[in-house]
Amino acid sequence: MQAPSELIRDVYDLYIGGEWIPSTDDERFPTVDPATKEPLTKVAAAKAADIDRAVEAAREAFAIWRDTAPDERGRIVHRIGQLVRKHRDGLAALESLDQGKPLSQAESDMEGAARYFEYYAGAADKLEGTSVPVGPEQVDFTVREPYGISAQIIPWNFPGNLFARGVAPALVAGNTVVVKPAEETPLSSLRLAELCEEAGVPDGVVNVVTGFGDPAGKALSSHPDVDTITFTGSVSTGQTIMKQAADNVTPVTLELGGKNPAVVFPDADLEEAANWISKAIFTNAGQVCSAADRVLIHEDIHDDLVDRIVEQAVGYEIGSGSENPDMGPLASEKQFKKVIRYIDLGREEGATLATGGNALNRDGYFVEPTVFTDVENDMRIAQEEIFGPVLTIIPFTDEAEALELANDVEYGLVAGVFTSDVKRAHQFARQLEAGNVYVNKWFGDTNQTPFGGYKASGIGREKGLEALNSYLQTKNIAVNLAEGNSGDLPGT
Ligand code: NAP
Ligand code: MG
Repeated sequence: MQAPSELIRDVYDLYIGGEWIPSTDDERFPTVDPATKEPLTKVAAAKAADIDRAVEAAREAFAIWRDTAPDERGRIVHRIGQLVRKHRDGLAALESLDQGKPLSQAESDMEGAARYFEYYAGAADKLEGTSVPVGPEQVDFTVREPYGISAQIIPWNFPGNLFARGVAPALVAGNTVVVKPAEETPLSSLRLAELCEEAGVPDGVVNVVTGFGDPAGKALSSHPDVDTITFTGSVSTGQTIMKQAADNVTPVTLELGGKNPAVVFPDADLEEAANWISKAIFTNAGQVCSAADRVLIHEDIHDDLVDRIVEQAVGYEIGSGSENPDMGPLASEKQFKKVIRYIDLGREEGATLATGGNALNRDGYFVEPTVFTDVENDMRIAQEEIFGPVLTIIPFTDEAEALELANDVEYGLVAGVFTSDVKRAHQFARQLEAGNVYVNKWFGDTNQTPFGGYKASGIGREKGLEALNSYLQTKNIAVNLAEGNSGDLPGT
């Protein structure tokens, strides 16, 4: 692995219009390694005036990028993918230091980031409209046009991967982007911007403004010249962004997390279910919007499966992400405190700690893999997104109860069912209120499959070809072929 000093600059500026420039008032803030609490470097703190500059640069570049031939746009975006692949290890090391996740997981994130650029690159010259048959007196067809400037507001759990998830489809569709990474994890976005430049992305097409939710994120999501907003993060910030966007009638794509049920029936392969569930809750220390954080287990197999999950949890090797353990620290002090508060709450609410429940006695934001049993579905630990390595287990007696419990939550991002009965699997998949359903596995979504939330989990879809709908608007063009002007009235 490269030494941190080779990966990280002493200070970072904002990346606007293809140049590195300090923020208007020259303020910078540290980003820390959550395994040690030591600052890694300082990045610029963008103010509203800096957001104006970035949006202006993106507007200027839009005229050029929109009219770049689609195959050329595709080639450039494909080159970004190749560069991400080439620099995968350095990007992963950087991400692991800044975010805390185990190196192997950061590598997988960057592999996925490369795939987003490759996948969408191939779509650049296939964004076709339709021809509409309206009779002999009019030629009618649709074209799909970019919105213009896409604001990308990114959280701290999968920073580099989510940069790619949003930027790749935005670019191939002909939009320019202004990216605001989370304050905790800005480094991978800044590195990816360098790679975009190296790939031949014209100046101003990709801009990165580091800074705080307020003022930087707020200024971006309320900017009158931003044409569409993609946000991943908490429900409350998503609601705020939607309100800010409403003033400008700017469309939003929101991915707002989940409280995702995994339902395990007695006919499931319990060893496999235990493996999937452990991975599904402890990957990235549970800071995953699609984590399996609410497991519903049939009473007949409850104790057996709990034992198997606990056995896995206690075997987890915990350490600094760059040492590639099974689990790293939480990404920030704020998240660490939040998770500890929820563990205390679980105790107060009367749930039983089957394992874990403590912070580690060492530097850094480490919490043990934690499993609560005897959880009631109306407890806050069963309903609210903890975003940590905390599993809540709820028993059930029959299929009807399982379905009711699974859907009795405000969120609807992902859900899963473990059973060897094909009919039951399909029936359940149809009835679960979630944008993604996994059967006998977890994290079954890929770059190619649409991903997004039902209910409070969001609006719109990311990933797959469906994500392009967030970056393209349809224009219908009607051409008169008839003689005279005595024709149509509105509403016909
Ligand atoms: P958050 O507030 O939703 O932050 C996500 C992003 O939004 C960050 O870039 C943030 O900037 C920015 N932001 C904050 N306020 C804004 C505003 N008024 N206008 C525009 N942008 C704004 O998430 P958080 O506070 O970091 O985490 C809180 C909880 O959110 C977590 O515990 C977890 O439950 C949930 N979460 C979910 C996901 C997911 O994948 N769905 C990801 C992360 C967090 P700053 O970082 O500078 O504040
Ligand atoms: Mg950091």
